[in-house]
Amino acid sequence: MDRNIHMENQFEDLRAQLHIDCGKCCGLCCTALYFSKSEGFPSNKKAGKPCPNLLSDFRCKIHSQLSQEGLKGCIAYDCFGAGQKVTQMIYSGSAWKTMPPDRAQEMFDVFIRVYQLHQILWYLIEALSLTAAQKHKNELKGLILKIQTTVGNSPADICSCDIEAYRKRVNHVLKEVGDSVGESVGGNKTGKLDESEYLGRQFGKADLSGQDFSMALMIASDLSGCKLRGTNFLGADLRDTDLSNADLSESIFLTQMQINEAKGNKHTRLPDWLERPDHWK
Ligand code: SF4
Ligand code: SF4
Repeated sequence: MDRNIHMENQFEDLRAQLHIDCGKCCGLCCTALYFSKSEGFPSNKKAGKPCPNLLSDFRCKIHSQLSQEGLKGCIAYDCFGAGQKVTQMIYSGSAWKTMPPDRAQEMFDVFIRVYQLHQILWYLIEALSLTAAQKHKNELKGLILKIQTTVGNSPADICSCDIEAYRKRVNHVLKEVGDSVGESVGGNKTGKLDESEYLGRQFGKADLSGQDFSMALMIASDLSGCKLRGTNFLGADLRDTDLSNADLSESIFLTQMQINEAKGNKHTRLPDWLERPDHWK
């Protein structure tokens, strides 16, 4: 019998905290970030300026029409729980609106850093849950605890932490972990694919178990009906990728934002920690 790809780990509660809770946030993504119309946002907007659709209670005025308006950027965005963490825990429920400009700017900077740290945590927690990665478990646990501590520090300390140094260490271990998972399911069954052929590629219900798609540009490709056990999607661009009838329940290193950007249906199977987007229904 095949060994399970994933198993439970001690950080499930922490992973739950990395899901967005917009009702506990002060619209940080809709304010702190730069965004452009060409990426599926309502207009070109400078970082630090609130979106014109952001209401005074931080809800979105056009939330129910985002799909209709084709605002894919708004629909897909996911902050890994940084918004509520920064609003409620780091700034004790205060909103940028009530702050002097320099303090509001600090809050935006902290949000961007916490987003990056939470994204790293997301991958580390999944890595620790991978059966094939247990030889790295001490290193993974050490990194999770270190980053958790960093996120619990003061705004000044969060802003001065060396995220690039974390990234280098984490990228290295995630690469090793991804390779171990790929080997554990028999490696790339299709052989080495030419990356330039991923864009818009029809995979024809292939068995892509163990395939390494990390950082691959797979926009508008067709993975419908494919077998994707232990397939590595770390950082892959899945915008408009068709995941209908595909089984991703044992794929690795997927994020909610990738899923939100892709197309799927009620038969698409997802890992337990990811949610089926409303617009797939
Ligand atoms: S920053 Fe996160 S929690 Fe806040 S509104 Fe945006 S997605 Fe929601
Ligand atoms: S349209 Fe709504 S969800 Fe999109 S940035 Fe503006 S307020 Fe946020």
